Amino acid sequence: MRQQFYWHGIHVPYITQWSSEQGDSGRLTARLGPAGERIEYAQEHQADRREGALWVRSRIGRGRGAPDFVRVHPMRQRQAILNDLCQVCGNYVPLIPDEEARLYVVGGYTPVTDGERSTSPPTHPECALEAIGACPKLSRHVTALVRETPLWGVSGALIHPKTLKPLDDGAATFQPFSAPEFNWTLASALVVALHGVTPITTADVTNLARTQPELAAVVPEGARP
Ligand SMILES: [Zn+2]
Repeated sequence: MRQQFYWHGIHVPYITQWSSEQGDSGRLTARLGPAGERIEYAQEHQADRREGALWVRSRIGRGRGAPDFVRVHPMRQRQAILNDLCQVCGNYVPLIPDEEARLYVVGGYTPVTDGERSTSPPTHPECALEAIGACPKLSRHVTALVRETPLWGVSGALIHPKTLKPLDDGAATFQPFSAPEFNWTLASALVVALHGVTPITTADVTNLARTQPELAAVVPEGARP
């Protein structure tokens, strides 16, 4: 089981970024890649490019400094999406028996719809209840059981091809793998499409947590970085 961190009594979610993890932004350049012109770091390392996208740089220092509850750590979010790790505790989230689905907690007002895109990794029912009660980001949230979560693209800042500066003050946009803009996106999170969606209530989540406590499980072998 992964180590858990607390800040003034609050359980800090696995994907939350800490102040020690702010990365140095490398200088960007435009070069010809396998699928046309794209942004690259002037001095690019293998770890800078994942799932075909160039990623914003960050350090690894979970638990050091102070947690920034509104920022998500790019590598841990990606790791959680690729390996079905809980966004709160970082441990593996198994399928809920009978449902063949996992629980997703998504910020927003409206119920999750089929095909909706999200950067949220899955969550254990018990962890979801804890996060809903404590996390300011989830003061408005919806919950759903989701059967399939194919990778859809990335979330990140769109970079101007000529000036190589972020557009819209670096606001994150969702870009599918197939979009021309994908080559010009500095990724900060993976995006999945949510399919086989059954919206559920917080009362349903409470019921799941009570009746199926075995849904808290260990990290599987061979988790992807
Ligand atoms: Zn958990």
